[in-house]
Amino acid sequence: MSKAEIIDGKRAAERLRAEIGRQVVRLREQHLVTPGLAVILVGEDPASQVYVRNKARQAREAAMASFEYRLPHGVPQENLLELIERLNQDPAVHGILVQLPLPPQVDTDRVINAIRPDKDIDGFHPVNVGALATGGDGTVPCTPLGCLMLLKHRLGDLAGLRAVVLGRSNIVGKPMAALLLRESCTVTIAHSRTRELAEDCRRADILVAAVGRPRMVPGEWIKPGATVIDVGINRIETADGKGRLVGDVDFDSVTAVAGATTPVPGGVGPMTIACLLLNTLVAACRQHGLPAPEGIMETAWE
Ligand code: NDP
Repeated sequence: MSKAEIIDGKRAAERLRAEIGRQVVRLREQHLVTPGLAVILVGEDPASQVYVRNKARQAREAAMASFEYRLPHGVPQENLLELIERLNQDPAVHGILVQLPLPPQVDTDRVINAIRPDKDIDGFHPVNVGALATGGDGTVPCTPLGCLMLLKHRLGDLAGLRAVVLGRSNIVGKPMAALLLRESCTVTIAHSRTRELAEDCRRADILVAAVGRPRMVPGEWIKPGATVIDVGINRIETADGKGRLVGDVDFDSVTAVAGATTPVPGGVGPMTIACLLLNTLVAACRQHGLPAPEGIMETAWE
């Protein structure tokens, strides 16, 4: 029997996007700046195409300028680096996003490092990674930022809570752990070599699952009343051949024990794109010496 609160990330993201849109319109009406997002897609991966289309569409819906660049799968690395350099110099572009993964002839680190740190709205550049680690003022990666907003919505002050982050990737697990530490949680990072995964998870007031394994976390790993954030997006086979998306946690057994959990789809995913727009808005303000809109994150929950 399900008893956990289902955290509605779709609705929270809609509210956040609406507020971002209002702020962008205000900046435009005052002739201060039109925030601009450039998205680069290399190759024809179907999932990446959907992500890029959604990001560009939602940027336009938030009244931002949106620039899309599609390069063939076999594009030489130098061409991609030249495009990034051009966008680094372009005053109409405040945020640059290169959709990952990239094809094998391209060195992903080299590409990330080529983006000007103040235009790196994914927060993957070492300057921004360093800022997050040392408490500086950088750009925070979108997925962990979205997860943090959902957690703060549900729990308010996170200080002193025991958090377990399942997964240690550079784009989700590590920045998530750094953010939770910044919120004064007691943080454990678990991964494929962790010895007592179930026991570690069972101690968590907050569990963030980002492993990429369908329904890996069962209800018996969950502390009663815990808040569970499911980052995983996994496509599984179904009898009708259409397939469907599931998360990294086993939704039915986890909702019977947890206090709250995010669904897949409709949880973390929509927040990721909303946070991308938020990072673009803040980047545009910073590049024009304007104050970033205050309290904008909280508007998602009013
Ligand atoms: P990665 O594959 O880069 O990282 C997975 C992590 O999980 C690794 O640290 C790995 O450990 C760990 N892991 C794998 N198997 C196990 C296991 N059996 N037990 C414990 N730990 C394990 O994935 P990402 O971080 O990029 O993504 C994770 C999931 O989140 C995916 O499903 C992805 O699709 C989804 N995602 C969703 C987003 C959204 O917007 N909702 C955005 C980004 C990702 P080790 O390091 O030891 O190998």
